[in-house]
Amino acid sequence: MIGIYGGTFNPVHYGHLRTALEVKELFELDQLRLIPCRLPPHRDQPDVDGEMRLAMLHLAVADSPGLQVDRRELDRAGPSYMVDTLQALRAENPDTRLILFIGADAFAGLESWHQWQRLFDYAHLVVMTRPAYGLPDMPAFLCQRLCEDRRQLRQQFGGRLFFQAVTGLDISATQIRNLIRAGRDPQFLLPDRVIAYIRQHQLYLSSTQDIECKQNNC
Ligand code: ATP
Repeated sequence: MIGIYGGTFNPVHYGHLRTALEVKELFELDQLRLIPCRLPPHRDQPDVDGEMRLAMLHLAVADSPGLQVDRRELDRAGPSYMVDTLQALRAENPDTRLILFIGADAFAGLESWHQWQRLFDYAHLVVMTRPAYGLPDMPAFLCQRLCEDRRQLRQQFGGRLFFQAVTGLDISATQIRNLIRAGRDPQFLLPDRVIAYIRQHQLYLSSTQDIECKQNNC
């Protein structure tokens, strides 16, 4: 069983990492792949380029063997549509159960995702929620896929929807970028190694940094 956890990861933080580890254990995944997007379809291009966001992810999971980093979206031209990512993973793993994990905030906008219904052709969808989260109103397409026991996901390669409560850590990358921009210390919100990388490359000091300038250390 392979889990897929996509995001901008600008930067990766303990909200991502704690939930990734929890679902890896709860769903007894063989792998959980963290997949940074190149061009997010629904928001501005991140002000830190993909290779740097990828490098921070590698630093963050260096001591967590079950968490892997997958660079495929960075290598694909155009917007990073999750349906394309899942289609490619399905082609590579025809006999494997795939689960896409997304946060409740991302799930709220699911119907605006490119070809969102096709996600279920390739994978299950698990929404990571806070404890005691009530089920949202959903279209019939989603209601009929809902299952109440995560063991049911083992019976099919994809196509089901499940809500999983995880530890709620109220951390966002936006908050971290804002703290750094304000000259404040983000320690304990993300791994020290990632903070060291951010400092070394002087990331997030201004809102519209020139990426090439940063890479050249100018
Ligand atoms: P930003 O603040 O820039 O929007 P973010 O912190 O929300 O970033 P993303 O990389 O956009 O992080 O999110 C990737 C995935 O991680 C999404 O599915 C999102 O719902 C989930 N996620 C983000 N923060 C948390 C958190 N604190 N706890 C659980 N899941 C999270």
